[in-house]
Amino acid sequence: MNGTLYVQHKIDPDCLAALPNGSGVYIFKGQGTLPLYIGKSVNIRSRVLSHLRTPDEASMIAQTRRIDFIETAGELGALLLESRMIKEQSPLFNQRLRRVRRFSSLRLRQTDKGTTPEIVDSKTVNLGTTPKLFGLFSSNYAAKQKLNELAQQHGLCKVVLGLEKTSTRGCFGLQIKTCLGACVGQEERQAHDDRLLTALIDLQIEVWPYSGPVELIEENNGWVQKHRINNWCHLETWCSKTGQATQVTTFNPQDFDRDSYQILVRPIMLQTVNIQVY
Ligand SMILES: [Zn+2]
Repeated sequence: MNGTLYVQHKIDPDCLAALPNGSGVYIFKGQGTLPLYIGKSVNIRSRVLSHLRTPDEASMIAQTRRIDFIETAGELGALLLESRMIKEQSPLFNQRLRRVRRFSSLRLRQTDKGTTPEIVDSKTVNLGTTPKLFGLFSSNYAAKQKLNELAQQHGLCKVVLGLEKTSTRGCFGLQIKTCLGACVGQEERQAHDDRLLTALIDLQIEVWPYSGPVELIEENNGWVQKHRINNWCHLETWCSKTGQATQVTTFNPQDFDRDSYQILVRPIMLQTVNIQVY
């Protein structure tokens, strides 16, 4: 190994020689059995070697003694496996993400006056199957903060949004001209509601588009992996090499996994992955 290119390390050279060029997950390990770092790539070998050329990672690399890997048939398999392994093993050098099990969201409801947002959470509403949900927040408070922020940015009325009590003089924003006047009839309610939707649209959560589970099929030189997904949850992966399925999670209809949602929403909605529907 060229010493001028790589950060100083004590990694077993046989481990490095064994790294494959395919996609999958790699695991940096120190003297113990616990992982120091877990990552994924479509090319395990080149990604790991690029870590070894990164001076900022010198302290992690100095502690590393071996690098293990698990190959996957495709990129989605690598993303799903990495996300699951990081959650299960919390490696020292992966960013500590607080594991949120319960989420809040904003739901738009139609009333006789117009569109009204309400705060819902994953305890009472199934976030994967309920339409007109916007944003995933770690608490009801965070959802409310976001609504306040959007009101400010988009000239929305906080009385109409349910953030302030009704008053005959209109909302506080009207006095300081941050509200365009939906509370006192200066602005058409429909125009206000259209702006509310525009403000929220980028946060919209896609409803699971199938009536039940589907399989996402990844294939690489005859090796096939099928990832079974329902309601944005990864349930299991079947592998043609072993002829067996590895169960990932037991499906609870109320479950919503933000990480797998974020991994899967684009490939599924844009149909850029081979999807088998039952
Ligand atoms: Zn107002």
